[in-house]
This record gives sequence, structure tokens and C-alpha cells, in this order.
Amino acid sequence: MLSMKTTRIDLHNHTTRCNHAEGTVDEYIQRAITLDIDVYGFSEHAPMDFDPKYRLKFEEMQAYTQDVLTAKQKYKNDIDIVLGYEVDWLQGHMDARVLGAKVDYLIGSVHFIDKWSFDNPEFIGEWKSKDIDEIWRAYFEATTAMVRSSKFDIVGHLDLIKVFKFMPKTDVRILAKETLEAIKSSNMVLELNGAGLRKPIGEIYPSKSLLEMAYEMQIPITFGSDAHSVEQVGFGYARVTSLAKEVGYTQAVTFQCRDKQLVTF
Ligand SMILES: [Zn+2]
Ligand SMILES: [Zn+2]
Repeated sequence: MLSMKTTRIDLHNHTTRCNHAEGTVDEYIQRAITLDIDVYGFSEHAPMDFDPKYRLKFEEMQAYTQDVLTAKQKYKNDIDIVLGYEVDWLQGHMDARVLGAKVDYLIGSVHFIDKWSFDNPEFIGEWKSKDIDEIWRAYFEATTAMVRSSKFDIVGHLDLIKVFKFMPKTDVRILAKETLEAIKSSNMVLELNGAGLRKPIGEIYPSKSLLEMAYEMQIPITFGSDAHSVEQVGFGYARVTSLAKEVGYTQAVTFQCRDKQLVTF
């Protein structure tokens, strides 16, 4: 019987450099090797002149890059290390140094509606002062704008807005439809992110119903644990890949110098 080679991917990982994660580049990689991950990517929160507390500083970009590239060489016989950033979509605050950085991929993520950090427990009170359906609409509008900007390769945690389980009355498939259509026409890759499993919502990003839509539209996928600690490397990998398979996917995307490569997972 033919045995098919499968590839384990985890492209969404942070390090101590963002000031809200624990673990060094080496520690993360060693854990990834233990878990038999084949392609492991660092996607540190990119510098920005807004909310600087929770991210890399511009002055650290070079050191971050150097750390990852040094590790890529050091571990090249054991694992394929790739370099990226998770970039916030926030009008007027995105920087050419990040958008033009020499990386393997950029994850575009919406963590702010206007300047409200809706997924930060510190600002959860805001949820009570607004209409939930309006919040969800604004979130997907921002995500659509991020996608249409053509600046990014991967859509980070497509339905992060569900994090605290404040669910809209409107069907989420209706709210997300335009965003998914934009993803399809922009040739972006959708991330399956296990972090939601450790949040109040207790679900993978995106939900099964949105992933089914993505599959029907033939939108390619990739995988990320969104690890903020060494123990979270590969977090939820089995559940995330089985959801992808349930929906019909057999292949996922990895990146090299912003080029896509399709592998079987
Ligand atoms: Zn983070
Ligand atoms: Zn994120």
C-alpha cells in the first residue's frame, strides 16, 4: 500500500518579544520538533505606533528576523522554520517597514474595531454598550477591507469576534459572506486557528459553518496554534485538522518568500 506523506503545519506563533507571550525561539522550535511539526512559522505581532505595549518594537524587527533566520539554519535538518508577522489591520497605523518586510508570509488580523481592542478582557465592558449585531458587522467590514488591501497572505482567525461568545441574532454566514467572497477573489489563504478552543467560545476559528462556505468557494487553508507559550505549540492540531477533513479539505498551504506551496496534511 502506498503511504502518503503528510505535512504538519503551524504558522501562527508568538515569542516573548510581543510582551504578552512566554518562551524563546529555541524553546518553541524544540517543542515543535517533539510534536513532529514539519513547517513551523513565527508570526510575531508586528510593530505599530498604536497599542505598542502588546507587540514588537520597530527597533527589534532586525533582531527578531535574525533570531528566526539563525534558528532556521540551526534546525534545518529537523524542521522547516519560516518567518512572518501577524499584522494588525488598523487604518492609518500600518507601516511600510512591516508591509514591505522580507518575510515568508504576512498574517492580516483584525483585533480592533475603530480603536477598540474587542478581544482584550480589559475592555470587555464595551460589549455591553453596543449592539452586538452592529459590532459583528463592523468587524467583518474591517476584515473585508483588510482582505481587499492585498497586503497580506493569510486571514488570521476569521471569526475572532466570537471570542467572548457574544453572538449576533443574524446568521453568521450572512455576516461573513462578503468577507469570504473577498478572500476568494484576493487569493488569500484562510487560517484554521486553535486558539478559540482555549477562549470562552471554546471553538476553532473559523466555525464549521464558515469553513464549509470557504470549502465550497475553494478557498485554501493553513493551520496555526496562535501559541503564546511553549505548551501551546500545535495547540488543538488534531481537532483543527479533523474539522478541516470533515469539511472536505485534504491540502493546506505553506509559504516561502510569500509564495504558496500546497501540501497534504
Ligand atoms: Zn498575542
Ligand atoms: Zn491575532
